Amino acid sequence: MPKILLVDDAAFMRMRCAKLLTENGYEVAEAENGQEAIQKYQSYRPDLVLMDITMPVMDGIASTREIKTLDPNARIVMVSALGQQTMVIEAIKAGAKDFVVKPFEPDKILATVRKIVG
Ligand SMILES: [Mg+2]
Repeated sequence: MPKILLVDDAAFMRMRCAKLLTENGYEVAEAENGQEAIQKYQSYRPDLVLMDITMPVMDGIASTREIKTLDPNARIVMVSALGQQTMVIEAIKAGAKDFVVKPFEPDKILATVRKIVG
């Protein structure tokens, strides 16, 4: 079962996303900011990270940089809000593979996850 790490400071986003992914055969762990994501990444070793951009403590871009330094093969997809194009570009430069845009669209999230981890 592919493992996904969900990183978002909004509990409802993690909950909705976790429900969607577990119902579709994925195993899920959660982190609520970029710092926690780095720790969870190392212990959980996910096949894919779904990473929010704007979070307290450490944002998704800094976290992506750190995780890619620890594991150059890390697969990270950014979850961005409208109007965050500049930050999405930053994240892609930092090594993120792809991005999905909020609001939450189950079909798009699943399609993106499947494209990367199967
Ligand atoms: Mg956020």
